[in-house]
Amino acid sequence: MIVERNITCIVCPIGCKILVRIDGTQLEIVEGNKCKRGIEYAKNEAFDPRRMLTTSVLVNGGEWPLVSVKSSKPVPKEKLFPILKEIKRTAVNAPVKSGQTIIKNVANTDISIVATKTVKNNKI
Ligand code: SF4
Repeated sequence: MIVERNITCIVCPIGCKILVRIDGTQLEIVEGNKCKRGIEYAKNEAFDPRRMLTTSVLVNGGEWPLVSVKSSKPVPKEKLFPILKEIKRTAVNAPVKSGQTIIKNVANTDISIVATKTVKNNKI
């Protein structure tokens, strides 16, 4: 069965609306991309959509109760829920340094969860 679908490219701020025709594992660009990067994006979005994940993790004994974190690379959409579940169960002890790995191989994905801020010890 051939399906036509619109995909909005988010590689650059132009945000081209790309019309694609999908036939099983084959993808044909119909129209809309202003450059070649849109072709690769549309293929990935159609067959293996991924997103960078940003959220926060609990901190014990820190100046702040949470530290912001991100995934080390884009996460497959179907893995978002198990990854968020593992992050929710996680707490880290202060101090936390920006760039510090908080969880390695989260939800068996070969992706790490990394702190994006520094949280010092609570001085009280
Ligand atoms: S197709 Fe090219 S120009 Fe259009 S949004 Fe994607 S990267 Fe930008």
